[in-house]
This record gives sequence, structure tokens and C-alpha cells, in this order.
Amino acid sequence: MAILNGLRISIRLWLSFALLLILLLAVAAISLSHMNRLTHVSQSLLDGQQQNQYLAQRANQQALTAANNLLLLLQTTDKQQRISLYRQMDEELAASDLSITLLGKALSMSAGNSALPQLVRIKALRRLYNDRFYQTVNLIELDGPEKAHQQFAMETRPALTALLTELRALTSQQQEIMRLELRQLHQDEAMARNEQLVLAIGAIVLGSLLAWRMAGSIIRPVREAVAVAKAIAHGNLQHPVPVGGRDEIGQLLRALQRMRDAIFIREERILHLAYQDDLTGLPNRTRFVEALQSLPPPAYGAVLLFDMDRFSLINHALGQPVGDRLLGELGRHLRAQLQETQLLARLWADQFAIWLPEANLLQAQALATTIVQSLRSPLVIDNQRLDVDGTLGIALYPQDGRDAATLLRRAELAARTAKARRKPMLGFHEVGAEPAPASLSLIGEMREALTRGEFRVFYQPKFNLHSQSMTNAEALIRWQHPVQGMIPPSAFIPFAEQTGFIREITPWLLDQVMRDTAAWRQQGFLVVPAINLSVHDLLDPGLATRISTLLGQHGLPASAICLEITESALMEDPAQALDMLKQLASMGIKLSIDDYGSGQASLAYLKTLPVNELKIDRVFIDGINVTAKNAAIVRSTILLCHELELTVVAEGAETREELEKHNKCDMVQGYVIARPMPLAQFLTWQAPAA
Ligand code: C2E
Ligand code: CA
Ligand code: CA
Repeated sequence: MAILNGLRISIRLWLSFALLLILLLAVAAISLSHMNRLTHVSQSLLDGQQQNQYLAQRANQQALTAANNLLLLLQTTDKQQRISLYRQMDEELAASDLSITLLGKALSMSAGNSALPQLVRIKALRRLYNDRFYQTVNLIELDGPEKAHQQFAMETRPALTALLTELRALTSQQQEIMRLELRQLHQDEAMARNEQLVLAIGAIVLGSLLAWRMAGSIIRPVREAVAVAKAIAHGNLQHPVPVGGRDEIGQLLRALQRMRDAIFIREERILHLAYQDDLTGLPNRTRFVEALQSLPPPAYGAVLLFDMDRFSLINHALGQPVGDRLLGELGRHLRAQLQETQLLARLWADQFAIWLPEANLLQAQALATTIVQSLRSPLVIDNQRLDVDGTLGIALYPQDGRDAATLLRRAELAARTAKARRKPMLGFHEVGAEPAPASLSLIGEMREALTRGEFRVFYQPKFNLHSQSMTNAEALIRWQHPVQGMIPPSAFIPFAEQTGFIREITPWLLDQVMRDTAAWRQQGFLVVPAINLSVHDLLDPGLATRISTLLGQHGLPASAICLEITESALMEDPAQALDMLKQLASMGIKLSIDDYGSGQASLAYLKTLPVNELKIDRVFIDGINVTAKNAAIVRSTILLCHELELTVVAEGAETREELEKHNKCDMVQGYVIARPMPLAQFLTWQAPAA
């Protein structure tokens, strides 16, 4: 069977069918030859016996006829008649002799025939009868019928009777032999039939056995192959693959093995790609998140997010290959600061995350400090010393989040806030509120909104109470969302500021407002629009240059625009803010302090700033008629501002009464004058009659 298994299935099938065919042919040939032999034997047997019997009967018959003729002769007196009878009798006796001779020959041919001694006796009796017969004939012719009669009765008739008796005995003996042989023949036939039956059953059993083994030899390995394929399909790549023979199934099994190995290698590669960061060889974000989720949660821990400062600058100045190598080196550097149990991953770009199991805030801060200090000595890339700074955000498990995504998001927010506040590190608890989840989806869409041109600029008049006309306005952004409709800035600007995306919005806004301004100035409309700046913009060293370039591009004098900076933006980094304000002021741009009174800025501080305008926050304007204290603050502020030569804008006046109370201000901006409106409407806007 082992040899069979070694053969190809097609050869195996051919062989078994050929074998079955040979078996069938052999059985058919054997039965055919059996039948032939039986037919032949029975035929020759029947032929021989029949002939023997016939010959014996004929000899008997002829002897009898001759004897009758002899009796007739005895009664025939006419010589002529006797002569014709003699001829007849001669013929009959000769015929009888011939029959006996032929019978003798036939019997002697079948060797061992028991009838031979009988035949010898018959021949002797025949001779005796012949002698007596001729004696009788002689007596008829010589001595007359009487004597012949006597002799006939005495000698010839007994000889004839003896001959006839013997001949009859032979006939019945031959009949008996024939009966026996027929019986033998029937037995032979039955035996041949049994033999054929046995052969046929044997052939069926052998054929079934062969078919069973053959089917087994094919089905078993096919089942094994199916099991292997199923295991592979279920992702079980450890399932053993049987060795297999040289046949087609063996080839299939080997192909499956190769396929499994290839899948295994590819899966490894995919896993590698999916989980490892190619640039640094560190785990990637997916791996980090999965590791955090699959670990048995410790009682507490911390996620540290490291964000490199000015990476895009380095990338720009030294080229991306150097930037890539720097990230690799930074990865190695960070890894060296950590223990084995602490996990480091590169999230994307210049952001790395560290998971510190069983670390509290103090330990996390200590590590963050170590990292910041370790970066004081520059990293060396291609013999080039590069100063690397980074900001760290810390989120604690479980206080700040119980899952990897939340922890990472909050650590990221902490790092961003730290950067905005110019601090080397910050814990999430120091950040304050996180953007509401509903707005998170908007954050993702903001970038597309900018490229799809979904942002709009609305203008709201700042009504000049001295000239009773609109001399200024404020540019306010809106988002014309394709699904959610017009989205107010409060729904996305805070997040744009938190994510730093505001750095892309402000340049667009500056460009758009300057384009509008240039266009309306050409028509003789000399209103000065104010653009809101965020803390990011203010702390961006390139801001002054960008504005100056844009002014040049739109052919506008610096005095054609105003910039609004909130009190809180100024307080983030007062020194740098002052620097920037000085630069902008020296260019001739008008500056305005927004939301005055909502924060902690004191007028004493404000007077050191090179600003032209102060906008009193709506909280003071709103309900001014009911809060005497508010009214007093506003009054003194206006007085002081006027002494400092600052224009005062009352922001958010909604009613005529509020407007009345503010007639000491220089300008009023509020719904009572006009709501923010699209450009076309703004250009045709007419101040309401006083
Ligand atoms: P903000 O700079 O204080 O702008 C004034 C806000 O007060 C505007 O809201 C304006 O529509 C609203 N306002 C004016 N008069 C009234 C009034 O009589 N009653 C009331 N209740 N509100 C009045 P808006 O347009 O929704 O803007 C909200 C804030 O979004 C702005 O406050 C500003 O901080 C920010 N923002 C708007 N546009 C921009 C932008 O282009 N850049 C930046 N960085 N911030 C922007
Ligand atoms: Ca404003
Ligand atoms: Ca304001």
C-alpha cells in the first residue's frame, strides 16, 4: 500500500481500473473456457455414446433381419427367389458386420472401455452364428429344407439368440454408460457454475477491497489537506502540515505548506508594519494603545507625552533626511532615560509617548524633568550638534482617564497647553476643560473646511459716537458647514486655538479681510476693520512679517487695519506679547485690547502697551443700567483711557438704554447698532437714525 501511496493518483486510478478490468476479463475467460469445455465434452460424449448405441442397435437389427430372412428362406421352394433372398441376406449380414466392426473401433478408441470383452464375445458369437447360418444355407441347397430346418432349430437359432442377447446387453450397457456420463456431466456443470460463482464473488470482494483502499488512499490525504486549509483560514498557522507523498495530494499539501509559510511571513510583516514605527524602530501609536489596553491595569500609572519644539523648523532648514535621523536619535535618547518596564512609542511626527506603570504625578514630573534636563546637551547628527527642546504633557491613570485613547488625548492636550504657556511640562489637571465631545468631530473637519472654502467673514460695525458714523468694524469668522449650517465661532475657535489650528485660520482671515478692505477702500469706503488674534498668533515670531507681506500684497497702508488682542492672550506670556505688540505698533498697525475687564489685566499694565483702543467687555455693558458698581467701573475706565489717549469701545450693547449710558464712550459695537453681517450687506449698511 505504501508503494501505492507513492504513485500519482492518476496512475493509481489507471492501475486499479486496469486491474479490475483484468480481473473481470479473467473471470469471463475462465467461465467461457469452462462452458466451452463442458459443451465440447458433453457433445462428444453424447455423439460417441449415441453412435455406439446406434451401432449396437443396428447390428442387432440387421442380425434379426438376417434371421427372419433365413426363416423365410426355409419356407421358399423356388430357387430363383432364394437366390435374391441370399443377396439380400449377404448385404444385411455384411451391414451387421460393418456395424459391429465400427462399434469395435469406437469402443476401442475410448480407452479402458468395459465393453471390449463383451465385443470380443459378440464377434465370436457373430462368427459362430455365421458358421451356423451358412450350414443352414448349405443344408437348404443340398439336403432340403427339412434337414436345414432341424439344423436351424438346433444350432443356428440358439447361436442367433446368443448373439442377439449379447448385442442387447451391449446396447443397454451403452445406455447405462451414457446415463452415467450424463450424470457426471451434470455434476461437472454444477461444479463449473460454483467455481464461477466463487470466482465472481472473489472478483467482487477483491474489486471492493481495491476500491476501498484506493478511495482511502485518496480521501485520507484530501481530508488532511482540507483540515490544513481550514486551519489556515481560521488563522491557525501552527497547524502541522502532513509530509505527503509524491502524488497530487502531496503536491497540494506542499503548496499549502508554502502558502501557510508565506501567509505567516506576510502576517509577521504586516504586524511589524502595523505595530512598529519604521523610523525609530520603536512601537507605534497602535502598539502603545494596544499594550495599555492588554496589560493588567496597575493600581495607577502615568502617560507622558513628549512633543518636540520647532521640529518643523529643523526639518525645513536641514532637510527631511536629517529630521528623520534626528527623530531616530531622539527615540534612542528617550529610551535610554527609561527603565525596562516603561514603554516608549513614537505616536507620529515629533510626538513620543511614555507609559509609566505604578507612577504618580510626582514621579511622572520627576521623569519629565530628567528628560528636559537630559536634552540640555545637544544631540549629534552627522557630526552636527542639534539643540533639541521638547514639551511634556502628563495624564494620570486613573484620575485623568481609564483608557489609552483618553489618556493620550489628555496628555497631548496638556503638552499643547504647556507649549502655549511656554512651560516645559504640564499635567492635565492644570489644563482646565477639554473640548466637548460634540465639537471633537468638528475639529477633524476644520482642515477640510479651510481647503473647501467653508469659512466666511462677517463684519460688525463699530459705531463712532463722535462722528455719528461707522469708522471701524470687527471681522468675525463663521463656518458655513454643509450639514450643520452656519456655525458660530464659539463652537470651533476655542478648539482651533487648543489644537493650534488657529495658526492656519488667522493667515487666511488676514488675507481675506485685507482683500475686502482693499476692495472697499477703492470704492472710497474707508472703514478700518479689526481682526482678532489668538495667543498662538501673538506668540508666533513670524506674525509681523506675514502681516507686512500681506499689506504689501493688497496695497494697503498699515493704518488700514486694526488687530484685537484679548486680555487673556496678553497674559499668557506678557513679555513676548509686549515684544510682538511693539513690532506691530512700529509698523503703524492699530492695536486694540479686547474683552477688557474679563481677566486680571490691570490698567496699570495696559498703559505700558503700545495700543490705541480698549474694548470694554460685554459683562460690564450688559445690564449697566442696573448695576451701579459696573457703571462706576466703566465710567472710571473711560476717564482713565481718555487720559491715556485710548479710544474706548463699548462692546455688546443690545438696547437703546445701554447705548444711552455709553455716550461717554468713543465707539459702540452691539446688536443695537447692527449684528455681524456678510460683506455685501455690510457695504450697503446704513446707520439707524439716532
Ligand atoms: P469677540 O472678539 O469679543 O467678538 C465679539 C462677539 O460679540 C461677537 O460674537 C459678536 O457677534 C458678539 N456681539 C456683538 N454685539 C453683541 C451684542 O449686542 N450682544 C451679544 N450678546 N453679542 C454681541 P461672535 O461673532 O460669536 O464671536 C465670538 C468670539 O469668537 C469673538 O469674541 C472672538 O473671541 C472669537 N472670534 C470671532 N471671529 C474670530 C476670528 O476671526 N479670529 C479669532 N481668533 N477669534 C474670533
Ligand atoms: Ca474681538
Ligand atoms: Ca470682545
